[in-house]
Amino acid sequence: MRTCEVAVIGLGLMGSAALHSLLRRSVDVLGFDPLTVGEARGSSHGSCRIYRRFNFENDSYTELSDAAFAGWRALEAERGLVGATLSDDAFAAAGEAAVKGAQGRGHNDFKIMLAARTVARALTEAAQQRKA
Ligand SMILES: Cc1cc2nc3c(=O)[nH]c(=O)nc-3n(C[C@H](O)[C@H](O)[C@H](O)COP(=O)(O)OP(=O)(O)OC[C@H]3O[C@@H](n4cnc5c(N)ncnc54)[C@H](O)[C@@H]3O)c2cc1C
Repeated sequence: MRTCEVAVIGLGLMGSAALHSLLRRSVDVLGFDPLTVGEARGSSHGSCRIYRRFNFENDSYTELSDAAFAGWRALEAERGLVGATLSDDAFAAAGEAAVKGAQGRGHNDFKIMLAARTVARALTEAAQQRKA
């Protein structure tokens, strides 16, 4: 029987995010859900969601939203790498995906380009370390 250190029960938005995060940390984890991907039952069904930063209940939700948004960007960047041949072009595309839709305020526009390049550079270095 397959055993695991952590079991995530229910793989909607919350469970999937927890599973993904644990896998990235190399935790021995398994996820369980009776439904399959694309299933119309469960609250996470559908292709889009409204994303809000502002929340009336508590200011800390805004910071939590910002942290979560960084996670969505990382996921977007990772998605382009799944099944791709690891190359400078693929890493540059991942960098662009990580900042997709970002808007500067004139004086800090350059940071968007820097962020994209930083992601590409980090991926290049990670790939080199993996080869070594
Ligand atoms: C129509 C609709 C529109 C929405 N729009 C927005 C929006 O625009 N913006 C926004 O921020 N939020 C929105 N929400 C809310 C948001 O989608 C939900 O809060 C979120 O998807 C909940 O995710 P969850 O993982 O907690 O629950 P779920 O997605 O319901 O996941 C629970 C999972 O647990 C599984 N499960 C249940 N019982 C068991 C069991 N015994 N063993 C194993 N697995 C089990 C289920 O199969 C399911 O897959 C919307 C919700 C709906 C329904």
